[in-house]
Amino acid sequence: MTDPAAAPHPFVVAIDGPAGAGKSTVAAHLASRFGLLNLETGAMYRALALKALRGGTDPDDAAAVTALTHTTRIELQPQATGNRVLLDGVDVTGEVRMSEVTAAASRVSVHGPVREWMVAAQRALAGTASSGVVMEGRDIGTVVFPDAPVKIFLDASPEARGERRFEQAGPAAASREAVVQDMRERDRRDRSREQSPLVPAPDAVLVDTTSLSLPEVVAMAEAIVAAHTPQHA
Ligand code: C5P
Repeated sequence: MTDPAAAPHPFVVAIDGPAGAGKSTVAAHLASRFGLLNLETGAMYRALALKALRGGTDPDDAAAVTALTHTTRIELQPQATGNRVLLDGVDVTGEVRMSEVTAAASRVSVHGPVREWMVAAQRALAGTASSGVVMEGRDIGTVVFPDAPVKIFLDASPEARGERRFEQAGPAAASREAVVQDMRERDRRDRSREQSPLVPAPDAVLVDTTSLSLPEVVAMAEAIVAAHTPQHA
C-alpha cells in the first residue's frame, strides 16, 4: 500500500486503455469520489487535430503538425460531466467529438515531437492540482507519470468496445460495422506506433470490462484507488 503523503506530487491515478473500454466514465466517477481533478488527455490530441483540419494541415505530416504546436494553446477545464476544451482560448468541446476529428486525433498522435509537447503540457496541468488528478489516456502510466501510485489499464474485447461506441454514438451514427472498423483502425495505430504505443505499464492493474456492468467496473476501480489512499477508504 502506498502512503499518499510519501507518493510523488501530485497524487496521480493513471487510467489507460483502448477506445470504448470505459475510461472516461470510470475517470469521472473516481474524480468525484476522491476529490481529484479529472484530465482527459485524448481531448488535447483532438484539439490539435481540429486545429490541423481547420488550417488545412495534413495530420500525417509530422513536421507540419509539430510546427502547429508552436502556436497552439490547449486548455482543459474539468467539469462534472467531462472536460471543457479550449483551443487558443475558444471553446471547442463539441467540435472535438466529431468523427473526422476523432480520426485525425489518432493520426497526429503518432508523431514523436507532438507527443513530447503533449506530455510536457499534461505534466504541467497536473501540477496545478493540489488534491491530485485522475488522468486518462493511452500513455499515462507508461510515459506521462510512470511513478503514478495508482495505475489502472481498462480493456475489453473489440466486439464489446465497438458495441459501446455504437450505442454512445446515437441515431446519427454510421453503421455498426463502420463504427467498429474505425475503432479497430485507431487501436491498431495506437498499439503499433513507435513512440509510446498503447501497452499496460508493468505495474498497472488490468481490468477486463468485457462482461462487467458499468457499476461493477466503477466499484472495482474505486476499490483499487481506495487501497492506495487509506485516508479515503
Ligand atoms: O481518448 P480519446 O479517444 O479522446 O483520444 C483520441 C486519440 O488521441 C486516441 O485515438 C489516441 O490516438 C490519442 N491519444 C494518445 N495518447 C493519449 C490520449 C489520446 O495517443 N494519452
